[in-house]
Amino acid sequence: MRVLIGGGSGFVGRELTRLLRDKGHEVTVISRQPGPGTITWGELESHGLPPCEGAVNLAGENLMNPLRWWNEGYKNDLFSSRIDTTKTLSQAIAASSSPPHSWVLVSGVACYKPSQTAEYTEDSEWTPFDLLSKLVKEWEASALLPENVAKTTKQVVIRPGAVLGRDGGAMKQMLLPFWLGLGGTLASGRQPFPWIHVSDLAGIIAQALEPAADAPPALPQVFNGVAPALNTNYEFTKELGRVLRRPTIFPVPGFVMNTLMGSERAVVLTQGQKVIPKRTLESGYQYTYPDLTSALKQIVGS
Ligand code: NDP
Repeated sequence: MRVLIGGGSGFVGRELTRLLRDKGHEVTVISRQPGPGTITWGELESHGLPPCEGAVNLAGENLMNPLRWWNEGYKNDLFSSRIDTTKTLSQAIAASSSPPHSWVLVSGVACYKPSQTAEYTEDSEWTPFDLLSKLVKEWEASALLPENVAKTTKQVVIRPGAVLGRDGGAMKQMLLPFWLGLGGTLASGRQPFPWIHVSDLAGIIAQALEPAADAPPALPQVFNGVAPALNTNYEFTKELGRVLRRPTIFPVPGFVMNTLMGSERAVVLTQGQKVIPKRTLESGYQYTYPDLTSALKQIVGS
């Protein structure tokens, strides 16, 4: 199968590309920069969709970019980098004379309202309540295909929690302070911490790219891209400290996180949701790293 990956040069995209190539598939990345095995977003717009059986969008300005101050310009970039690229890809799919059989958008769990008690599955109803949930709403809406195309192209939305892996995401920024023994719980530590190992997220995307056995449903199928273990920030912190054999005695209060990161963004770390991958498990996906210990040992040992 030929797969087109928007933002395939990033943390999740590199893992997905490795997995797909190992399975014998061909990958073309869509990037802002030209390069081998790559087309640019401009080329996609001017030449249309290259021949492919699967398409994925992973492009987006990094939400945890430590080099960017939380301001209107950054917020605009978070929205436009996701919504414009997703729209460009979905419009190219819709305009193609031979659209792919699968179109996968990777969004996020920020659509579910933070709570220490509520449990969310893919069937949970939600309406936007803050900046990031509004982003998810607009982002997922921009992926929708017209009815006639949706009859043959399966639409999938995967909502990951924090993606854990050595080469990117939250771990890349956390490993050094934890190694130095400066790690600690964030805010109360009681907030849920939905997470997934990057290789499981790549596996779930690869499974979603497989052609549908029957005619695809009219609306996108949603899969929560989280590990089935429900952990809190406290459990995550203590387990990372244990695996690294380092103390984790420096809690970071919520107000410090809010000041450093901006409260609209800090919410992904200081609050959280209990997200259950109900449909992902029902689909038969077998997690390689279903629990924190195995995931963190792989990351720290690699
Ligand atoms: P990355 O931060 O690695 O970025 C992916 C790619 O997006 C980059 O390689 C880059 O490609 C492209 N990109 C970055 N900034 C912009 C921009 N301003 N405009 C257009 N393109 C841009 O993302 P991840 O791989 O970590 O995540 C993939 C997707 O999953 C993202 O949409 C993210 O929001 C979502 N997600 C990630 C989580 C995580 O913990 N990592 C958690 C939940 C959701 P290039 O430079 O080649 O153009």
